Amino acid sequence: MYLKNLAVLDEEHICPDCNTIMTPCEAPPVHVGDGLGWGAEVLFICLNNECPPFKNGWKKVDVNYGHKGTFRNMQLPGSKEMNVMMVASEYAFTGSIIDPDLIRMQNERYLVEMAAVKALDTCLADNDIKPVMTLILDEAATPAGRKRAVEMLVRFNDLSCIDAIRNHTFKKTEFTQATNLVIQKLLLDNNQKECPFCAELIKAQAKKCMHCKSDL
Ligand SMILES: [Zn+2]
Ligand SMILES: [Zn+2]
Repeated sequence: MYLKNLAVLDEEHICPDCNTIMTPCEAPPVHVGDGLGWGAEVLFICLNNECPPFKNGWKKVDVNYGHKGTFRNMQLPGSKEMNVMMVASEYAFTGSIIDPDLIRMQNERYLVEMAAVKALDTCLADNDIKPVMTLILDEAATPAGRKRAVEMLVRFNDLSCIDAIRNHTFKKTEFTQATNLVIQKLLLDNNQKECPFCAELIKAQAKKCMHCKSDL
């Protein structure tokens, strides 16, 4: 999840009916009642099962609507105005509780990815391989940017990328295959090979590895 406004994670909302701290939850994409979005990415919800509107709501919903359900108090970010949301069970929203530290980390990763994607346009001219490697090694980055990065990699002619790629496990085999091809091309262009015993780079013609002394 990417939050446009991280500052909402610093907000504290106290439920006026039970005085417990309300929990930031990911807003459902659609406001079930009227088909409109809440206009907020995060909703603060009182998840206290002893909160009076929740405890007394079951009977109210049964009498007024004839189905099983109750209410949770809710506040929108930046507002102390109280809203109530009808919920079908006590577990509503418990699956979308936001972990602020995790969201901050995900946001940070996303911003690094965006900066790297932008830098793809200029990094070859700048001879800066970093954005390319950032995208290739980021499993959470969008595949389009990563594919572009892999295609660019060979043009840097930088053997130092090999170690990082070999030490990385790609979730998708297409990236394993694509980066393998790049490594093969880089080795060929530089008259090098990987020692099958210690994986260090050695001259393509070598009969003995200069690192592990193995006979090849
Ligand atoms: Zn409450
Ligand atoms: Zn070796």
